[in-house]
Amino acid sequence: MATRRQFLASVPAAAAAFAVADRLIFDAAPARAQQIDPLQGHFHPKGKAPSKFTLEVLRKAKETLPLGDTRDFEEQKKGFIAPMKPLKITADAGHVAWDMERFQFLDEQDEFDSIHASLLRQSKLNNNYGLYEVVPGIYQVRGLDLSDISFVRGKTGWIVFDPLVSTEVVRAAWKLFQDHVGEGLPVSAVIYSHTHGDHWGGVRGIVDEADVRSGKVPVIAPVDFMEFTVSENVYAGNAMNRRLFYQYGLLLPASPHGYVGQGLGQAVSAGATGLIAPTKYVEKDIEEFEVDGVRMVFQNTPNTEAPREMNTYIPDMKALWMAENVIASLHNICGARRSAIRCAGRNISPTRSTASASRPRSCSRRITGRAGATSAFRKCYAVSVISTPT
Ligand SMILES: [Zn+2]
Repeated sequence: MATRRQFLASVPAAAAAFAVADRLIFDAAPARAQQIDPLQGHFHPKGKAPSKFTLEVLRKAKETLPLGDTRDFEEQKKGFIAPMKPLKITADAGHVAWDMERFQFLDEQDEFDSIHASLLRQSKLNNNYGLYEVVPGIYQVRGLDLSDISFVRGKTGWIVFDPLVSTEVVRAAWKLFQDHVGEGLPVSAVIYSHTHGDHWGGVRGIVDEADVRSGKVPVIAPVDFMEFTVSENVYAGNAMNRRLFYQYGLLLPASPHGYVGQGLGQAVSAGATGLIAPTKYVEKDIEEFEVDGVRMVFQNTPNTEAPREMNTYIPDMKALWMAENVIASLHNICGARRSAIRCAGRNISPTRSTASASRPRSCSRRITGRAGATSAFRKCYAVSVISTPT
């Protein structure tokens, strides 16, 4: 009997022998896998059509959806001023920072048998691409990133809410805005609603850090903004970004069989991202002060859609900015990229002291339906709602 050592020494050889034999044996045998012809128009040479099982699941899901209700499309067009002409925006580094051309296929057909009807509706709506008036004095550029950028008329200039993910798309948004309604006035203040990078990353595309440091342009943010921005985007940043690729399939080509959209917006812009630290913080639960001559009421909403976030009410314009506490999509409660878990129940009323029993716990369109969301806000604030449609 060979010693244990001799036996172990012989194992790899044996295994290798088997492997070779197996290779010889199996390769000779006809492949037993079902031969499927690659699908015409699929982005991958081995791409397949959805199986009959998938088609059945998608068909059943579609039956549950009120697709006959097309008010979303009417609302999407409300206040439209001008389209963003170039479908692509180039990064300063030379690559494409934003590309809406790749999503035009969505409007070529009413439906695709490979796309869930709800995702398709959302992605068609997210093909909005241009400048919109919310109410006189408040404007938004939509469709240039995952989030949208808003401009509120101040006494001396424009108050900017949430300057997107990257510098280049913010510059393009500012130019479109100035070409139509900006009157050549400067940025007079910037407001970050919360700690997620798609709400501050493009700030250098619209203000000069020197103007912020000199105090000429205040940058306003919720309490503890920097602490949580660093912890979520720096400490966890790399890992979260890697997981983001899987969560959204970002490396898939945009196509009916690949990447269709990201729910909140079509994608995340890929230009230069940078942060300018805030110069003024909203410390209390509710705080009121003027920004460039405009009275604003800020409500801190910690641990809602982000660890630090705030709503803003503009009484003289009867306008309510709900940051990402209200979105026209399902809330991203526990994203696979493992950002901080969000507490859906707090998305409207963050703290007991400001929450009255009658206020609904959550008001996104999907949870309470259109009527619920609208009546909830009317009941709470009697104002027109500015939410980042993203
Ligand atoms: Zn967010």
